[in-house]
Amino acid sequence: METEFKILGSSSSGNAALLQTADVKILIDAGLSCKKLRTLLQNEGLEIDNLDAVFLTHEHNDHSAGIRGLSRYVNLPIFANQDTIQAVQSKLPRRPNWKIFETGSSFEFKGLKIHPFSVPHDAYDPVGFYFEWGEDDLFNPRSSLAWVTDLGFVPTLVRERIKGANILVIESNYCSKMLEDDPKRPWSLKQRIRGRHGHLSNQRTFEFLDSFQEYNWKKVFLMHLSKDCNKVSLVRDQFSKLQQSGKRFDTFIVDPESSKTLPL
Ligand SMILES: [Zn+2]
Ligand SMILES: [Zn+2]
Repeated sequence: METEFKILGSSSSGNAALLQTADVKILIDAGLSCKKLRTLLQNEGLEIDNLDAVFLTHEHNDHSAGIRGLSRYVNLPIFANQDTIQAVQSKLPRRPNWKIFETGSSFEFKGLKIHPFSVPHDAYDPVGFYFEWGEDDLFNPRSSLAWVTDLGFVPTLVRERIKGANILVIESNYCSKMLEDDPKRPWSLKQRIRGRHGHLSNQRTFEFLDSFQEYNWKKVFLMHLSKDCNKVSLVRDQFSKLQQSGKRFDTFIVDPESSKTLPL
């Protein structure tokens, strides 16, 4: 089976994606209610019972809200590091089938290689993921995906990690001007969002992608757009410059209102 990757939800109010390879079906983050996740999976012809595992980046609700309901599925492994597990577990009525990994240590699960790496963000031990799968096989070719949402800046190690991915999923969280003008957020929160443990702005993510001469990306997904402080049209304006500078990958934007993946 060919790899299928679909972002089920993405915005400050809930993030989750489905990755299906020849060997596994996994969720990356589970920031939507279990009920919502079930419906979205059913749209893809799947039930929660068909999932092989869930991988969590960090404890923030927009990445972990579904764990409460998913914990009823006692056989469903939920991978996270110790600090994230502790933070999520403290709000749960029961214990899910936690599987602990160590940030920075690679491991394998059903033919999937997983490399969790540290990202700068205001959570206990937030990670990004680099997934690799497949072999030299026509029906299950080698491929990889990097998932980096929620980071205040991109450290060199993260940069090196995600360069090789065939699919890159990265946040383009806010428009600096809209954040500046936002009447709902107090100054201190704005500073946190803009800070080195906050989120990447459209401008920052654009400059980051534009700075690469070499990369393996075939598809780039821009996600985790703030509902209040960003707009698809602004992201589109910013990133259309990438195409003009001759970048050879397809770019997609995930609409925070509909969670639909739109071509650039
Ligand atoms: Zn977060
Ligand atoms: Zn988030």
